[in-house]
Amino acid sequence: MIYDLIIVGGGIGGASLAAVMAQAGRSVLLLELSTVYEDRVRGEWIAPWGVAETRRLGLYDTLVAAGGHHLTSHVTYDETRDPAEAEATPLPLGIFAEGVPGPLCIRHPVHCQTLFDAAAAAGAQALRGVTVQSVELGASPSVTYLHEGAEHTARAALVVGADGRQSSVRRAAGIALTQDKPHHWFAGLLVGDAAGWNDPILGLGLSITYRDTRLVSDILKHTTPGAQPDFRPYAEERAERMRRLKAAADLQAGLDMEFGDAARERRRRYHEAAAADPTLGMHGFAVMAGPEAVPAEVFGAEHRARVLGAGA
Ligand SMILES: Cc1cc2nc3c(=O)[nH]c(=O)nc-3n(C[C@H](O)[C@H](O)[C@H](O)COP(=O)(O)OP(=O)(O)OC[C@H]3O[C@@H](n4cnc5c(N)ncnc54)[C@H](O)[C@@H]3O)c2cc1C
Repeated sequence: MIYDLIIVGGGIGGASLAAVMAQAGRSVLLLELSTVYEDRVRGEWIAPWGVAETRRLGLYDTLVAAGGHHLTSHVTYDETRDPAEAEATPLPLGIFAEGVPGPLCIRHPVHCQTLFDAAAAAGAQALRGVTVQSVELGASPSVTYLHEGAEHTARAALVVGADGRQSSVRRAAGIALTQDKPHHWFAGLLVGDAAGWNDPILGLGLSITYRDTRLVSDILKHTTPGAQPDFRPYAEERAERMRRLKAAADLQAGLDMEFGDAARERRRRYHEAAAADPTLGMHGFAVMAGPEAVPAEVFGAEHRARVLGAGA
């Protein structure tokens, strides 16, 4: 059998794409390395614009039924702010995406398992404990893998690599990994960084991944099985989306993740100035409402200089 789609990696990206494409009637083989989704600190918070993407994908109700719950208000604590004053002015979180009460939180292993089960229920052949041995790309793509002690080779019109930062599919395709130099590390329970990620200071990896799933699945659904999909609009949107989110993350990191007297004083001045001029916080609005929800200038040098020099 030749599948319409082989997806390597059954995390958020791979399992959601498998579920959506199987629901659309395509034949899907989903190959996941782990036998149990490990309980590691991972994405547990989906921004309002990411929640809107789960709705568009038809996955929202499934996530809520699996225990997903909304946060409806947010308090920013900082050494420059009096906690009582901060608590007196919480940010309501239902204002960022229409019909979305706020970010959706769900435990990461439960999240992955729910999507994996949804893919299987929709008719995808969903396998766990798979070791991928080789990926052949080109005119007749195939994946050779070990499952339950036997070697198999499966063919498909398209192979999707959703196997995280160390992606074997990416390596087989000869695509270089682009990585930024870390600006800071989170210590304690939150250590590391993410696949399909931006700076974890924003916690947007899940929303980025759901947007990817929606755009890729839309293109695939509108492509006749076996025909060459045109991913150019997706690539263009993604490049601009990531440029904007990276600019917002760099700014947020510079503001919130630097220490010492000068940085503390800059934060204090910023909070004061932003209370009087909400346009200073537009990059933060984009984190919640989506990078396209604010003008492009917000991600440029002028806005950055305004924020970092606020009140000076
Ligand atoms: C500490 C931390 C905190 C985070 N917090 C947030 C947050 O609050 N909000 C948010 O939006 N994002 C957050 N993220 C980011 C988010 O977790 C990721 O963006 C998201 O998990 C990416 O999903 P993915 O499916 O692309 O990749 P992954 O989650 O990496 O999934 C890849 C899957 O592929 C499987 N796999 C790997 N290799 C193979 C192989 N060779 N064959 C088959 N399967 C394979 C893996 O087992 C895994 O299931 C956080 C990340 C980290 C590390």
